[in-house]
Amino acid sequence: MTDKPVRTRFAPSPTGSLHIGGLRTALFNWLFARHHGGQFILRIEDTDQKRFDPAALTTLIEAMRWAGLQWDEGPEVGGDFGPYVQSERLEHYQKWAHWLVEQGKAYQCFCTPERLEMVNKEKAARKLPSGYDRHCRYLKPDEIAAKEAAGASYVIRFKMPLEGKTIAHDLIRGDVVFENDTLQDSVILKSDGFPTYHLAVVVDDYLMQISHVMRANEWIPSFPLHVQLWHALGWEMPQYAHLPVLLNPNGKGKISKRNPPKDKFGNIIPVMVHDYIHNGYLPEALSNFLTNIGWNFGDNREVFTITEAIERFNLEGINPSNSAYPVEKLDWLNGIYIRELSIEDLAKRLRPVLEAAGYEVNVEILLQVTPLVQTRIKTLNEVGAMAGFFFADYADFQAAPAEMLIQKKMDAANTTHLLEESLKLLEALADFSHEAQHEAFKNLAETLGVSNSQLFGTLRVAVTAQNISTPTFETMAILGKDESLRRIRLALESVKQTQT
Ligand code: GLU
Repeated sequence: MTDKPVRTRFAPSPTGSLHIGGLRTALFNWLFARHHGGQFILRIEDTDQKRFDPAALTTLIEAMRWAGLQWDEGPEVGGDFGPYVQSERLEHYQKWAHWLVEQGKAYQCFCTPERLEMVNKEKAARKLPSGYDRHCRYLKPDEIAAKEAAGASYVIRFKMPLEGKTIAHDLIRGDVVFENDTLQDSVILKSDGFPTYHLAVVVDDYLMQISHVMRANEWIPSFPLHVQLWHALGWEMPQYAHLPVLLNPNGKGKISKRNPPKDKFGNIIPVMVHDYIHNGYLPEALSNFLTNIGWNFGDNREVFTITEAIERFNLEGINPSNSAYPVEKLDWLNGIYIRELSIEDLAKRLRPVLEAAGYEVNVEILLQVTPLVQTRIKTLNEVGAMAGFFFADYADFQAAPAEMLIQKKMDAANTTHLLEESLKLLEALADFSHEAQHEAFKNLAETLGVSNSQLFGTLRVAVTAQNISTPTFETMAILGKDESLRRIRLALESVKQTQT
């Protein structure tokens, strides 16, 4: 640890919707900052203007807010080190790029794309690795002046040391050593005056006083360039921690849109945070799930609150190796979090899901239905199939076909009898609460010579016309006596039709 105040940042490039791995990087940075009472900064790295997508910025901010990762500085909240969008900070990058040229630590490169292509072709023919041949590193001052006078466009390249080693320290994996003669003179400022990621990231991490850079380990190959840039600029480096990335559950390859993870049945698992929002996951469950990948809470605990994670989060607990994406854990965790919500809270979250499925939600009914689904759903979206019928127009109800009503090892005759006897019992009930129904049905199965599951199954299908739904008596209590009886009569007709 340094004694600098802890300031971490999440620095996405808004080129598409936020990826689940990106959210995990953000989460680790956020947890680390919160653990140390530091600041968490959101910085938008939009210097690759060709790939910039303004819609991505909106969905990114939405996803971060949904996940509860509030940032202390950044877009929409401001801060003392802004602007926090790189395309609004070009003068800083230009200033430092030219300063490096003046210091002899970087150089103008006037090579045309055609020349670069030719160099690479020649290298390929000689079976050499591709890359710039450093032609302009050795231009004489008068040659440079002549090109400038002729208005030739140029990029600025960083002068990598030609020999020796670059030793880069990583908090998770220790020293990473690179042989300098394998490194390139990378472009740091493009001909349009935009920086490349490498320069912008170093300049901004410095100006924004970032203490810890935590980013995906796919940036390790750029690490020596960044270390050399910090040295050349004469600035004290932040600490770096390269995080393990998420691999497919089968361990093969990083998860991505092109290489999506699959569950054990071969179904594709989404990789975008927005898909998880739309598929009915709770942010609390997703955070718990992601925090557990590559970091370990300890004590064999897989379920913990975000507050508990903040208390314990540390870099020592991060496993340097990439981790397979444990998809099967997410539904399980989501179910646990659903069951821990208060009825009011869960109802509030179910409402938009039902509305999006086209139901008109009566809040009073929703509050009665919520405890019934709470123990039965693993994602919020399952509410529609299980209990949407409570919010459909009762007049549209269609009885289930006979084959659905007739339970295993039963036939039309005993199903008819079962429904008729149930009707009699229910008609006689003044109190239609589920407890009263329960009491009234206590001995019916035995009298009819059927099992409880045959009896309740028939009735449940009769009143819901679904195979999977909420429990029988609670369902009928919510539907009310008249509607429940009407539905059972319709079911009777449906079974009888098969007998005629
Ligand atoms: N803009 C980079 C990305 O989206 C940020 C990497 C970093 O955190 O330095 O991957």
